[in-house]
Amino acid sequence: MTNHLYDGVFGQHAASSKTFLYTANGEVSFAEFTALTDRLAGLLVATGLAPGDRVAVQADKSVMLLALYAATVKAGGVYLPLNTGYTAAELDYFLGDAKPRIVVTAATAATAIAPLATRGGATLFTLDADESGSLAEAAATHRDGFTAVPRGSEDLAAILYTSGTTGRSKGAKLCHRNLLSNATVLSDYWRFTADDVLLHMLPIYHTHGLFVASNLLAMVGGSMIFLPKFSADTALDWMPTATTMMGVPTFYTRLLDHDSFTGAATAHMRLFISGSAPLLAETHRQFADRTGKAILERYGMTETNMCTSNPYEGDRRAGTVGFPLPGIELRIADATSGAELADGEIGIIELRGDNVFLGYWEMEEKTAESFRDDGFFITGDMAVRDSDGYVSIVGRDKDLIISGGLNVYPKEVEGLIDAIDGVLESAVIGVPHRDFGEAVVAVIVREGSTLEADAIETALATQLAKFKQPKSVIFIDALPRNSMGKVQKAELRKTHDGLFS
Ligand code: AMP
Repeated sequence: MTNHLYDGVFGQHAASSKTFLYTANGEVSFAEFTALTDRLAGLLVATGLAPGDRVAVQADKSVMLLALYAATVKAGGVYLPLNTGYTAAELDYFLGDAKPRIVVTAATAATAIAPLATRGGATLFTLDADESGSLAEAAATHRDGFTAVPRGSEDLAAILYTSGTTGRSKGAKLCHRNLLSNATVLSDYWRFTADDVLLHMLPIYHTHGLFVASNLLAMVGGSMIFLPKFSADTALDWMPTATTMMGVPTFYTRLLDHDSFTGAATAHMRLFISGSAPLLAETHRQFADRTGKAILERYGMTETNMCTSNPYEGDRRAGTVGFPLPGIELRIADATSGAELADGEIGIIELRGDNVFLGYWEMEEKTAESFRDDGFFITGDMAVRDSDGYVSIVGRDKDLIISGGLNVYPKEVEGLIDAIDGVLESAVIGVPHRDFGEAVVAVIVREGSTLEADAIETALATQLAKFKQPKSVIFIDALPRNSMGKVQKAELRKTHDGLFS
């Protein structure tokens, strides 16, 4: 028996002397990466990791951290990456819930985490951004040449906690089949080959940077320019060496804000991909005007890996997330009955396929609620499909505003506001209101400070039914976003909760 995911991804080019990772400190070949992976895998097993045990990790992005993911899978374990922004209080919940066998954190966090880790009997190692710490020291005593622990397609490879904007975070259980099938489909759909060099500036505690980017490039034998975090300056410094880039929408808006980001700077680039949050149609157009290239927008989530994509060849349409990927069934369904809706009608995206996770860690009820009887997963994303088959996301179901009993889709209102001169971006939310249940409120970031609320109201008056028009317009300096660029609407709702009381 083989190790399904390891063999299919990192095992493919394990012995190659070619560069896998370019970093600010030098290059790492596939063979060097494998040697590091093997020493770490040896250490994990020597520490007592048995197949199915969790390795929980909160550490800064580094080559060793990526190798720790590969090592955990190779050793038969379950990789559990945690957002570096989580506090000790939040980690208390994750470690208590996931009961890891091994915990890895930065040295500065170790004192606070140690009691939480050891409470559950876990062993704690430290790993800092410069790759120093007890993990590296202990791994150095282990040998290269670790034999992968056999794991089948249905065995767990990773648990990723969802960002949990409502209620407790849930651990999405991802098996070897989920991850390997998605990497296979994406490499084919986006035409990734060993000639590709991906500019990788995403965090690796999230599905985007960890699985979409890293699994794919390792699998095809391509290379990654593996940098700790995004900055437009650094992206432009490295771009001449790259062929492709994956980013969240903010990467692209920041590049567009940079004077050196020109058609010439991108002429050699094969592909720019965006996902994890909606790319404004305006950004897509500005990017095309500046570079002559169309950003390829795709859609996915922690629970489902990637599920739709604009085409590689053919029309990449601004404001849409394209078509379901090969082998993935997608339907747009009525939220209550689950009945499939016709093209042009707004409903919930439901998905079935090898990409869809096994369920939530130790939350059987939540898992059962999230799937239809025929196995489709209810994503919670509202969308509409046009007659050409392109899917457009209109928002999360929980962001839907019901004002006076009528549905208001924030995306529709945001699109019109964003098109008004002097508006940089907007978020439309529902705020409790005595008469209407919820009232539509527009939170707007201006370009400059001359635009006033009445100009917004006048512009919308002729374009939107009265019930969709904002009852209040609020200007702020920046929308609250998480590390993946998603606007935190729950936070905005909380801030403006008492607006009409
Ligand atoms: P996460 O599990 O953190 O990857 O978040 C997944 C959620 O991000 C999805 O359920 C969508 O709401 C959102 N998302 C991801 N990609 C896109 C996209 N291209 N356009 C709009 N929303 C997106």
